[in-house]
Amino acid sequence: MSSTSSPVTPEHFAYLAARTKAVDDDFLIALKEEATGAGIPAIWISPEQAGFMQILLRLAGAREVVEVGTLAGYSAICMARALPPDGRVRTLELDPMHAAFAERKVAESDVAGRVEVLCGAGLELLPQFEDGSADAAFLDADKENYAGYLEHALRIVRSGGLVLVDNAFAFGHLLEPGEHGASVAAVRAFNDHMADVTELQSVIVPIGDGLWVGVRA
Ligand code: SAH
Ligand code: MG
Repeated sequence: MSSTSSPVTPEHFAYLAARTKAVDDDFLIALKEEATGAGIPAIWISPEQAGFMQILLRLAGAREVVEVGTLAGYSAICMARALPPDGRVRTLELDPMHAAFAERKVAESDVAGRVEVLCGAGLELLPQFEDGSADAAFLDADKENYAGYLEHALRIVRSGGLVLVDNAFAFGHLLEPGEHGASVAAVRAFNDHMADVTELQSVIVPIGDGLWVGVRA
């Protein structure tokens, strides 16, 4: 540990969360309650991470965003709120139940015209996205396919755009010794790969479960 870095603990997360402007309004709180009631797992990004991603999207002047992994629509709605009125988040979801839930909540939201939910496997849908057609991509689906998603993101995101990838800390298991299943192994391999991707300047930001933030060369 160099003298200019401090270890990030759960207490640090609580501290920063307590000092971060809340992004969860009544609508998003109700969305999470309803999702939980519908049996959707509570694996959406943290509100602090959502706020940070909104800041990044605003700084990038993002208009077009591609997301892989919609779940209940929480992150898509948060990102859409950081876009101009004619902006758009196209979000890809494999599970038809998740996609239908998200589509319904998006329709009820303040950004109804700004989010499109596409149901299908990420790797099957991404080829239809044009080169350089997005200002940002957020990868947050099955970790085993992250390398494939990244390949598409590097093609789809314009020069100067953002490539964000969730769960770099592998659900908290990243540095724990031993095996923790296929997803954790996949994140570990992906993190090593990301460090070598020459098309991006990137860094893992210790917020939420670790967020890769990359800028496309
Ligand atoms: N981004 C969301 C959380 C996504 S959780 C949020 O923060 O609000 C991961 C989602 O990816 C789950 O809904 C899961 O069904 C979906 N998923 C899993 N495999 C997928 C695949 N191959 N293609 C697209 N989505 C997939
Ligand atoms: Mg995630």
